[in-house]
Amino acid sequence: MQIWHPFTQHGLNEPIIEIETSYDEFLITKSGEKIIDGISSWWVNTLGHKNPEITKAIQKEAETLHQIIFAGFTHKPALNVAEHLSEFLPENFTRVFFSDSGSTSVEVALKMAVGYHYNKGQNRSKIVAMEHSYHGDTFGGMASGARSVFNEPYTKMLFEVERIPYPAPGKEEETIKYYKNLLQKEGDKIGAIILEPLVLGSGGMFFYPPFVIEELYKLSKEYGVIFCLDEVMTGFGRTGTMFAFNQTNIIPDIICLSKGLTGGSIPLAATVCGEEIYNAYLSKDKAKMFFHSSSYTANPVVCAAACANLKIWKNEDVLADVRRINNFYQTQIERFKALGCKNVRILGDIFAYEVSHTGNDYVSNAGVKLYEFYRKNGVLLRPLGNTVYVMPPYCIKEESLNKIFDVMEKGIKEVL
Ligand SMILES: *Cc1c(COP(=O)(O)O)cnc(C)c1O
Repeated sequence: MQIWHPFTQHGLNEPIIEIETSYDEFLITKSGEKIIDGISSWWVNTLGHKNPEITKAIQKEAETLHQIIFAGFTHKPALNVAEHLSEFLPENFTRVFFSDSGSTSVEVALKMAVGYHYNKGQNRSKIVAMEHSYHGDTFGGMASGARSVFNEPYTKMLFEVERIPYPAPGKEEETIKYYKNLLQKEGDKIGAIILEPLVLGSGGMFFYPPFVIEELYKLSKEYGVIFCLDEVMTGFGRTGTMFAFNQTNIIPDIICLSKGLTGGSIPLAATVCGEEIYNAYLSKDKAKMFFHSSSYTANPVVCAAACANLKIWKNEDVLADVRRINNFYQTQIERFKALGCKNVRILGDIFAYEVSHTGNDYVSNAGVKLYEFYRKNGVLLRPLGNTVYVMPPYCIKEESLNKIFDVMEKGIKEVL
């Protein structure tokens, strides 16, 4: 039996590199090569690989309790996650529903929102999402995400979603107006809006400002639409605050968390909401309960890892490291503009730009060639088409940052 890897065209014989161990910002290959993980192993790793406190918590819980059924039963690690999460979230967030990945946290959010209206006797099953958005690879996630080569074979199977335009710089008001018109026309059929706050990740690291979120939220409230933020990527410091919505003056109805929730160690997801949504399911009638579960929901070992991560966030100034990285980025903007890069932009732990090359799509050759070049030079970066971005674990040392940026410069000069 051989392994079929994700997002991999095996027909191109891309080498698959065996990693033996990892620490901090480094992946160590079987042959002993050290690779700098410039993208936090697909955005999951926040504190660095194999954080000692998280490792200890996993070891300890592994000797205490493995998976148990979570309907009708509970355990200390899950209770602790709920308690620790509320230390970081506004009081409005009173209920946490566990699942296992970013995609499932989105599925839960969408089902939660539509079921809320259903239990109130309303048929509001339409979802609104943003152009270029990404919400995972399960069907609900694909349906709400951008339609592209990623999901083309399944187009007919995906439920219809109303899409508001991406608020590109200078076009923010158009997005707000578009949403307003949409609500005026069919606001009573729309159940929820789901957005990646401040940055559309997989879509190409497109940024937009907090006031757009505030305006879309206000409109949603006027029309009784549930406001969901998919913070799977933005959560846990990526944009410079613990959650992206902390940069706005609104409190969303639902947030989805996953990638950084365990510091990037083992998989867990949480969909968090308030009492209003929860109460719509609260009844003596079993038919009104929330019909959702996954077998490994709230795994105790995973919950222990999340608790250890949240304790670190409580006791240490994690965001100071994000600021340190951001300060470094600021010194690099002019350098990359001078190299001919377009749209050089930074937000929190993210540095991104476009390289000039014809055709900006995921399968574009520039990204593939750059990826190979970076890897041969000991740096892991996976451009999204023509968009090159850096998003390292927050423990990354200046020496490693310098190496990433030097290799990126070399890439521009030698590959393109
Ligand atoms: C990665 C991501 C997801 C999907 O998470 P998985 O854990 O890969 O299922 C959903 N939404 C956003 C914004 C993401 O970045």
